[in-house]
Amino acid sequence: MQAIVREAFQQTVAEQDDEHRGPAAFAEAWKARLDALLTQETVAVTGWGEIAIAGLDTDLGWSLYQAAGRARAEAIMRAAATPGRRRGPDDGPAVSYEFSIAAEGEGSLGDVHYAICAPCGIGLLKKISFSPEWHYCGFGTLALREMEARHPDLSWYTTGQYAHAQGFYQRYRRRSDSPWTAGQHPCPHF
Ligand SMILES: [Zn+2]
Repeated sequence: MQAIVREAFQQTVAEQDDEHRGPAAFAEAWKARLDALLTQETVAVTGWGEIAIAGLDTDLGWSLYQAAGRARAEAIMRAAATPGRRRGPDDGPAVSYEFSIAAEGEGSLGDVHYAICAPCGIGLLKKISFSPEWHYCGFGTLALREMEARHPDLSWYTTGQYAHAQGFYQRYRRRSDSPWTAGQHPCPHF
């Protein structure tokens, strides 16, 4: 039953690229997926083969869904930034850092990599990465706000290579209190 609840979860995660569901909508979609699986006669689950639903305790399935859903909601609510770590050797005046967004019981949900150049007053957002199950939970915004708060007075930019995240950056920059520039080489030290 645990494998079936997990399967319903993974199917819901797989739809996120198209559906962009926030936490509440995600929980509903996951529930609907589980409901659909439990009304089938058999379910094919990776690593388990075909599972006959008739032989299973579906009440247990719903208990597992409730518990897993609560744990997910708690993790989303309590997620916070970890202390920063220097990343790699310094490159002239440019210093690279990373930190994670983490939740108790879940560990790291995703990471942010960036570099700053204090003499130029420039920050470069290098990479922000969360596994698909944590997309659309507000963590990208949480991470960038934290990054800006740790290094106030910098102007930020990012490279254009993350096409899939462009919409997110555009929306974020409009709301941000820190200056963001569209320029690609505002500092010669990166
Ligand atoms: Zn510089």
